[in-house]
Amino acid sequence: KGPGITVLGLGAMGSALARAFLRAGYETHVWNRTRQRAADAASAVSAADILIICLLDYNSIYEQLASANLSGKIAVNLINGTPSDARSMSAWAHEHGAAQYFDRGVMCVPEHVGSEHAFVYYSGEPEEEIRRIEHILAVLGSVEYMGKDPGAAALYDLAFLAAMYGMFAGAMTVFAMLRDSNPKASQNWTQKIAPGLQALLPSLGAVAAAVEVGDDSPHGHTNSMQQRGLYNIEVACREQGVDTGALEFLEAAFDAVVAEGGGGGGMAMIARKFTR
Ligand code: NDP
Repeated sequence: KGPGITVLGLGAMGSALARAFLRAGYETHVWNRTRQRAADAASAVSAADILIICLLDYNSIYEQLASANLSGKIAVNLINGTPSDARSMSAWAHEHGAAQYFDRGVMCVPEHVGSEHAFVYYSGEPEEEIRRIEHILAVLGSVEYMGKDPGAAALYDLAFLAAMYGMFAGAMTVFAMLRDSNPKASQNWTQKIAPGLQALLPSLGAVAAAVEVGDDSPHGHTNSMQQRGLYNIEVACREQGVDTGALEFLEAAFDAVVAEGGGGGGMAMIARKFTR
């Protein structure tokens, strides 16, 4: 049904995307570098109007599609990259004849593609263009339009990943700290740590609001108090031989704010230390 779709790249994510289109009944062509050495990507491109690109990085696209004719195609690039990567690729795709170029952020793991948990950020063309093909892209997950700037979706994608990796960095410290008291990391996490974190998550909205308006008041948690907590984590970790690298920048930010007289203030002052 509908327009033909070519999925370029059949790694973990590309395979999940192709399966979602097939399940939804779309005519789906696929291409993968090592599984189809004889065929080139250019002929896969010519097979369909909508190109879903899911290779490893942007260089792979320049390499594989150097001789492809993109005239009239709608290219949807789902590869992870920076906002500048996205802007350069958009210019390149238009120079090579693409009718439209969307850049993205796939906000789910392959096993969640097509599920209610999946959503994808898109940017790069006026909103009415994404709405025209939204019913097709919705097969992968809900469509979140982020703006005409091709780099907008990449920015939100990387911002989300920054939050995710920050969480992982904290979790790795936790696993190492608690290893000696109870070797069952999963039990420690689900019973002792996760409930407290879940309760805290909504309060990040209040921190975000304070950052937005430059509200430096402590909201019940002074910087001096938090500085002391971070220092105690550092000492306890050192005694246990646990690496505190994941928390060092945060501790340094609290130290600097307190040294500058901001001990009675709040997190908005710490947030400013993250902008060079
Ligand atoms: P995989 O490592 O599973 O697959 C990589 C794919 O890229 C393979 O098809 C590989 O082909 C291809 N490839 C690598 N280099 C080249 C090249 N020079 N020319 C042509 N093809 C190349 O990665 P994923 O599928 O997991 O990830 C793909 C994209 O999806 C990434 O940008 C990733 O950030 C994004 N993504 C992945 C998520 C995940 O959880 N997996 C979640 C959200 C986004 P070959 O088989 O020939 O090596």
